[in-house]
Amino acid sequence: MTSAHNARILMIAVLAAITIMASAYTWKSGSVSNSRKHPLAWSFPSQAAAVPPGIPRAPGTQPDRARPPGAGKLPLGPGTDGPFGSRRTTGGPTVALTFDDGPDPRYTPQMLALLRRYQIKATFCMIGANAQAYPSLVRQIAAEGHTLCNHSWSHDLTLGSRSQTEIQTDLARTSAAIRAAAPGFPVSYYRQPGGNWTAAVVAEAHNLGMTSLDWAVDPRDWEKPVAANIAALVTTETASGSIVLMHDGGGVRTETVTALHVILPDLTQRFQLGALPPGTDSPQQHN
Ligand SMILES: [Zn+2]
Repeated sequence: MTSAHNARILMIAVLAAITIMASAYTWKSGSVSNSRKHPLAWSFPSQAAAVPPGIPRAPGTQPDRARPPGAGKLPLGPGTDGPFGSRRTTGGPTVALTFDDGPDPRYTPQMLALLRRYQIKATFCMIGANAQAYPSLVRQIAAEGHTLCNHSWSHDLTLGSRSQTEIQTDLARTSAAIRAAAPGFPVSYYRQPGGNWTAAVVAEAHNLGMTSLDWAVDPRDWEKPVAANIAALVTTETASGSIVLMHDGGGVRTETVTALHVILPDLTQRFQLGALPPGTDSPQQHN
């Protein structure tokens, strides 16, 4: 064999090695950036088993859970990178804290007080039945500058698979209850319970003027309600542009409240935190 031949074989070997390394890096980057692929996301056997005994849940509500594997299409670009064109990140450097399943008179006021102390605006994804039961809390959330989000009437995890009429009725009824409690404040986001998105539910939310709001960071505060774990996961996984999911309702949230005493000072030192823009995010951008 000539030396030129040997050199060509060496070059091919080097190129092959570079290709393998590059694909390994791409795979690793993808896994890290997608927190839903975190092993925690798939490690629980069932929702019933995941809820610790003795923790009451609001009537009709159930815990959030990870979406089924393969749901949605990724990525679609900044801010529209969730399933079916929903928002998984804020589309900019701002980190958005979101609180689901409330309002709850036990915990929502505590969380509002903490957000006031650290001068943070957040987004509240509310259950319609809770909004109807506690209108003064909805009013307070809106008056303090937080963004309002529809989280369905009764936390129906399978709403996305129901008929177009059923989806539309549920979403419209929920938005109406929120608007009745806080007149003049827009309800421009929808979050599907459990993150069980379907094309149909995203389309109906869009028809009602709402952008579908997914999330990137999930400490699963409903599953293992230990403040240190919640705080560690949120402070570790939150990055520029993250939408962070926590809960102010749907069960006992004392650990989430405790965790916020760590999370809020930590994140405010590292990121700009803000509510998602109320009513300025045209749903037409997310077809
Ligand atoms: Zn929920």
